[in-house]
Amino acid sequence: MSTSLIAMGVAIFLVINLVVGLAILSLLFGTFETLFGKPKLSILRSTKSGNFFAFGFKWNSAKEPAAINTIRIRLFNPFGNPTQVQVTKQFEPKKNSFAVEVDMGPGLIDLLGAKNFDLATIQVEVASSKDGLSWHFDMKGPKFKRLVSEAHLTVDQFISDHKIETLKTSKPPIDIPIRSFIADTVPGKGAQLAIPTNPSFAAHFAGSAAPTTTGGSGGAQAPAGENFAVAKVWIEPGCIVCNACEDIYKDVFEVLSDTCIIRPNAPLNDGLRIQEAAEACPVEVIKFTKA
Ligand code: SF4
Repeated sequence: MSTSLIAMGVAIFLVINLVVGLAILSLLFGTFETLFGKPKLSILRSTKSGNFFAFGFKWNSAKEPAAINTIRIRLFNPFGNPTQVQVTKQFEPKKNSFAVEVDMGPGLIDLLGAKNFDLATIQVEVASSKDGLSWHFDMKGPKFKRLVSEAHLTVDQFISDHKIETLKTSKPPIDIPIRSFIADTVPGKGAQLAIPTNPSFAAHFAGSAAPTTTGGSGGAQAPAGENFAVAKVWIEPGCIVCNACEDIYKDVFEVLSDTCIIRPNAPLNDGLRIQEAAEACPVEVIKFTKA
């Protein structure tokens, strides 16, 4: 046997071993399912009234990114009465595999009670109204009823069993400015904004003035504020490049072609002005922490 044949045999043997090893590892760590698995709907046990539909949904969000927010259950039955029923509900968008319990309203009871239900086809649709993606799961009426009645996992158990990460509700403490506009700018009526750079309010923000009124339309007074230093200021995703922040404080904010950035070594001692820029940002992506 020639040396090249032996080398080829060894190479094939090593490749097979490598593939088998990777498959076993992938299965062990669940990545195989994540990468190659089909979207999977699990009907769960509702802990609430009969109007509620509990389900879990797992899909490859890296491959098909979407903010899923819609569940739709349809009944089709040419032999039934009615021949079609549909109930649709939206819920808080989910960007990764999730489990939820949704109040479908009395329509779900009507659907389950449709005449000749056992001859019906049920379609459960999980969809993202924003991203235009949807997945359909079709089954016969009896199977749907059996899955609903025999479901034993609750939403919480499903989340725990499948190690699904739920959204963290506690965020690092940041200052999200409360808007202090006292009136919208009304062309021709003289309404003004109570902001530190508005000369009409200079004394007010210096903390030494009596309450000031707006130029024409009146309005509530913004609280007087002492200036403060900022420890950190940053831009979160979503800048619409409107230039408002740079117009207010160009030493700190620099608007590029597609976003805004904080200038290197930006002065952070004029917190009021940074706050003003944050308040003026129409999409509220400017965040800061006080020193
Ligand atoms: S104000 Fe907000 S949206 Fe406008 S450029 Fe600055 S960061 Fe971007």
